[in-house]
Amino acid sequence: MTEQYFLVAPKIIPGEALSSWIHRLCQSHGISTKRLYKLLNFRKPEDVDSEEFPEAILKLMSMTRHDIENFQLVKAVNRSILLTEALRKQLRTGLDQSPTTAFCWQCLRTDAIPYYRIEWRFYFWQTCPKHLVDILTRCPYCLKSPDLRSELLVSNNATPSLAFCYFCQFYFGDSIQQIQSEFATSSVEQIKTQQSMMASVVYGYFQIHPWAERFPLQSMFHLYNAGLLASDIKSDSCSPPAWGEGIFSSFLHFLDSKLETGERAHVQISAMAESKK
Ligand SMILES: [Zn+2]
Ligand SMILES: [Zn+2]
Repeated sequence: MTEQYFLVAPKIIPGEALSSWIHRLCQSHGISTKRLYKLLNFRKPEDVDSEEFPEAILKLMSMTRHDIENFQLVKAVNRSILLTEALRKQLRTGLDQSPTTAFCWQCLRTDAIPYYRIEWRFYFWQTCPKHLVDILTRCPYCLKSPDLRSELLVSNNATPSLAFCYFCQFYFGDSIQQIQSEFATSSVEQIKTQQSMMASVVYGYFQIHPWAERFPLQSMFHLYNAGLLASDIKSDSCSPPAWGEGIFSSFLHFLDSKLETGERAHVQISAMAESKK
């Protein structure tokens, strides 16, 4: 395989999941993902969106002559997933633990080149902020979830683009025809919360206004799982957007209620999160 071979590779779209780009790359060359990894001398990963960025992918980037900058976002997200167990648990998987993604059918309908977004991989991401509808986790026609391990765009069952269901060839852009009931419209607060969580995932930490401390993502997900991550978000000059100090009072209030019930020994945020499940 020469570098020339990958000169025509598609560019990664800002915000695109690595898995999505790899499917499109394989389509442009008419090779399976299995073959691609073999060419790169790299074992086929369980979930390429959650793995350490291997040399093989870096090599692929240089072969495709794409600005390494374009991959910074997926690199940052993969790193946070690797370092944060609670974030790994947020990765959407199918019944057999296969990596899957949710999707906004309206985004896929309007994309010039349909692609899967990084944030669609996470359970906490539930609403499309652009179209204000809850994202779908299954094909509305055959009810199967997209299986990112399948050869989505290069097999006998291949579809023309990621906007189609691999299993029944249904065009996701037509989802409204299958779903009669109204889509849930999530609150502005929920959208703000998921966006701030995603920004924190990219940065690798979260902040509480007005302090400069960087808190680990793990704690953010404990608060989230315990229902304590309010949408009180300050975005002025903070990077990533910071939660308001109100998070402390709700946390202390929660601790108080725990102490009153006799759980004095080891009140930890993690234990708290468990008890709320
Ligand atoms: Zn959308
Ligand atoms: Zn389907």
